[in-house]
Amino acid sequence: MSENRAFSDMSFQQFLSEEKLMGCRCRSCGTDYLPPKPICTNCFSRDLEWVEMPETGKLAAFTCITVGPPAMTQEGFGRKNPYCSGVIELADGIRVDARIQGVDTKNPEEIRVGMPMRTDYIHRELNGVKSTVLGFRPA
Ligand SMILES: [Zn+2]
Repeated sequence: MSENRAFSDMSFQQFLSEEKLMGCRCRSCGTDYLPPKPICTNCFSRDLEWVEMPETGKLAAFTCITVGPPAMTQEGFGRKNPYCSGVIELADGIRVDARIQGVDTKNPEEIRVGMPMRTDYIHRELNGVKSTVLGFRPA
């Protein structure tokens, strides 16, 4: 694993494309960040290292979106096909924003806060640009 990759959004994206959920940990105070940050906002140290984050957690909050940004419209989401965006609390307590897959977005009352979830990476290509979005689905 490339532990020495710089802490940039690009590296985080690269890890996602490899289906790895990588955050960073401050070597001074031990605070974890996901997505990674270049500077620890707890103790202001720049001495951070990549760490693998748990791939499981539980749904902490969610919303089903019928009017999304253009990129989501291009993916085919809209009023008739809403998508779900949520917050996952990982097994170690860190919270991360993610797309929620595998749930019935037309019946959001079926989606429950506290549901066990696991990673489900979304590889997409828009206007010739490939990217990977962090997603989760019910475990
Ligand atoms: Zn720190």
